[in-house]
Amino acid sequence: MNPVIVIHGGAGAISRSAMSAEKEREYHAALRQVLQVGQAVLAAGGSAVDAVTAAVVELEDCPLFNAGRGAVFTSDATHELDAAIMDGASLRTGAIANVHHIRNPILAARSVMQNSRHVFFVGEGAERFARAQGLTMVEASYFSTPERHAQLLRVQRDTPEAAVLDHDGQAIVESQPPAVHPLDLDKKFGTVGAVALDAHGNLAAATSTGGITNKQVGRVGDAPLVGAGTYASNQTCAVSATGTGEMYIRKVAAYDIAARMRYTGATLEQAAHAVMFEELPSIGGKGGLIAVDAKGNITLPFNTEGMYRGYARPGSDPVTEIYR
Ligand code: ASP
Repeated sequence: MNPVIVIHGGAGAISRSAMSAEKEREYHAALRQVLQVGQAVLAAGGSAVDAVTAAVVELEDCPLFNAGRGAVFTSDATHELDAAIMDGASLRTGAIANVHHIRNPILAARSVMQNSRHVFFVGEGAERFARAQGLTMVEASYFSTPERHAQLLRVQRDTPEAAVLDHDGQAIVESQPPAVHPLDLDKKFGTVGAVALDAHGNLAAATSTGGITNKQVGRVGDAPLVGAGTYASNQTCAVSATGTGEMYIRKVAAYDIAARMRYTGATLEQAAHAVMFEELPSIGGKGGLIAVDAKGNITLPFNTEGMYRGYARPGSDPVTEIYR
């Protein structure tokens, strides 16, 4: 067995020219720290489910990324968070959507997977379930950062009808002359996810997001939908996606990768690339994904300018990357 953890912090218009060397270091350091947490779980013989949970909790707590604290705003200037987790060994899964008081949405998704006879809770019912599970609840303002709010105002002013990917929202912001710029240009964000293979040969996937900036209230993306933004089966692979959620839902993107492997004998890379570079672009889908197969092969394709990403195997140095 060749245990490995792979993470992403979202994809989008992340341009080299707009990023200071210091900010770049900050991102690499954050990704590295998350990978070390996941790596430690795997090195101790922990499960893939534990490794992806631990990694996503770290990513949710980091305001650099669009999940948990630092989540993007809806058109009403509120937050609606979505998350899902899946255990490739048992095909058990748990998901929550449209919550705004659960500090770590991925822990709520995991509680659904482990402690409920249902697989998907939304809104008030999801929050009630999380509270009953003893999870940490917070005021909705906990998730807000001034940078995200300014990003919302800018998108609403310039493209009121559009809901935009977090990194693309940042790119709009960065294209403005600094004199009229309301933001700290150094801030960047991203939906988050993790996939892992553990020493027992089990796969798992987890994804958590604030969604897309200026989304309509009640909108749910691909992240919490099993088969669209999140999927894991020991038979094939584990996948976590980031990007324009509507297209990932329409293409059932994560499951399509697993299905191609299972039905056509495609390798992980062939299947993931077909979805990322053929299926999704054919309907205007933009973003990226991370995936690992049951042998420990990994792939991290994206069709945007960049994707915050990295991977680590127990005993070797984590690898982190941002651009192509
Ligand atoms: N896929 C997420 C959504 O549509 C957004 C993202 O990945 O940035 O909610």
